[in-house]
Amino acid sequence: MCTFMKDVRKEGVFMEQKNTWETYSAKQLKEVDAFAREYMDFLDNGKTERECIDQIVNTVEEAGYQELEALVKAGKKLKAGDKVYAVWMNKSVVLFQIGKKTLAEGINILGAHIDSPRLDVKQNPLYEDGGFAYLDTHYYGGVKKYQWVTIPLAIHGVVVKKDGSTVEINVGENEDDPVFFVSDLLIHLAQEQMEKKANKVIEGEALDIIVGNKPLVLNKKKKDDEEEKSAQKDAVKKGILDILKKDYDFEEEDFISAELEVVPAGKAREAGFDRSMILAYGQDDRVCAFSSLKAMLEIGQTERTACCILVDKEEVGSVGATGMQSKFFENAVAEVMSLTGEYSELALRRCLAHSCMLSSDVSSAFDPTYASSFDKKNVAYLGGGMVFNKFTGSRGKSGSNDANAEYLGHIRAIFEKEKVNFQTAELGKVDLGGGGTIAYILALYGMNVIDSGVAVLNMHAPWEATSKADVYETKRGYVAFLKHADL
Ligand SMILES: [Zn+2]
Repeated sequence: MCTFMKDVRKEGVFMEQKNTWETYSAKQLKEVDAFAREYMDFLDNGKTERECIDQIVNTVEEAGYQELEALVKAGKKLKAGDKVYAVWMNKSVVLFQIGKKTLAEGINILGAHIDSPRLDVKQNPLYEDGGFAYLDTHYYGGVKKYQWVTIPLAIHGVVVKKDGSTVEINVGENEDDPVFFVSDLLIHLAQEQMEKKANKVIEGEALDIIVGNKPLVLNKKKKDDEEEKSAQKDAVKKGILDILKKDYDFEEEDFISAELEVVPAGKAREAGFDRSMILAYGQDDRVCAFSSLKAMLEIGQTERTACCILVDKEEVGSVGATGMQSKFFENAVAEVMSLTGEYSELALRRCLAHSCMLSSDVSSAFDPTYASSFDKKNVAYLGGGMVFNKFTGSRGKSGSNDANAEYLGHIRAIFEKEKVNFQTAELGKVDLGGGGTIAYILALYGMNVIDSGVAVLNMHAPWEATSKADVYETKRGYVAFLKHADL
């Protein structure tokens, strides 16, 4: 979920909420744990959009999905039961499983995003100061900057060289890997700093990561040599460049065409003595992406075509070629319709207008420590099941997709029939701020779209918390939706 803004607070009223854990049989409790393990694995191996795409493509290819572009080139036709995927720029993916009905009658779409808040390495990042080598960063998405200091960080991403070759970087996740960090001022000297407002206490330009402290060792015999004298300047930085060349085979100027993301180092963990929760980086919105993907893989033959789109750039407004506002999705639907023999401009318009979508993103979980920020009877509870937000947006619902009541009624009926535990929520108190998702973009086609997903505690913090029960229940909800939605 992307951020809007926040300020004031007031009191709320408590309302009893059904706890999903209490609805499970012994068999389901085992499934919940097994599903959580798979999900945590997905998080550990998918800390960037590209890493998520790699995992998703491997998984769907094993499940019999074929690449759309290859099918188009080969002139193959598609029929009910066929499974297709298309990847855009290694950061967005769309999956289709062809249904018995024509596409023009509408398709059922799950949408989620796979980008998460982080620190991006700038294009001219490496410098030395005070004996440290640093990489200069620019944060991505809505972050409380003070949360990113003094924690172990890892670097993930790619460096694309001029010859077109790509160096994949993943440093900081293995036990014997080095990690990186942003320093903070010691408390003993922090009197002035502690008086600053929280949004100023650590500023964006102060989020540069420390990547080294050891100078490049000089050849003593040559120390009078002019070249060696100049090497002594920025010797720590030169030491880092030496390592980058030897270990990763790239040079300073290659940072220009690199995409390096600095993320919290370490694996997803079970949380609580009862192991009921998951504490991990990037759950917004990989929790919805993973459960959507798994739902696609277990639905079997459906009446309407099932579709799942997992996109990039939601946290910065869904812009760019790989964001939801890109024509990538619409183009992919047009290509699929062409392969089923139904394509025409009008048939495409009809397909999009008659579709149903769950725009899946995380919702804020009620936090008793900050109770006054939430309306207790209209907030999601951890363990309360899958969440529906009839609308999102800010203050007077600004920027919101407000789902139609008839659509919500249809979804309620499906979920009650399939015994899926769900709750309805708003992000927080009306005047405090708000958030947005990709829902409004798909709604432009006139299709039915509602925001749904999983409740998250500490949303956008380096480590976010979810309930294992909610993750499992949401996947059940997606399955019910893909099979039965038809409005
Ligand atoms: Zn978000």
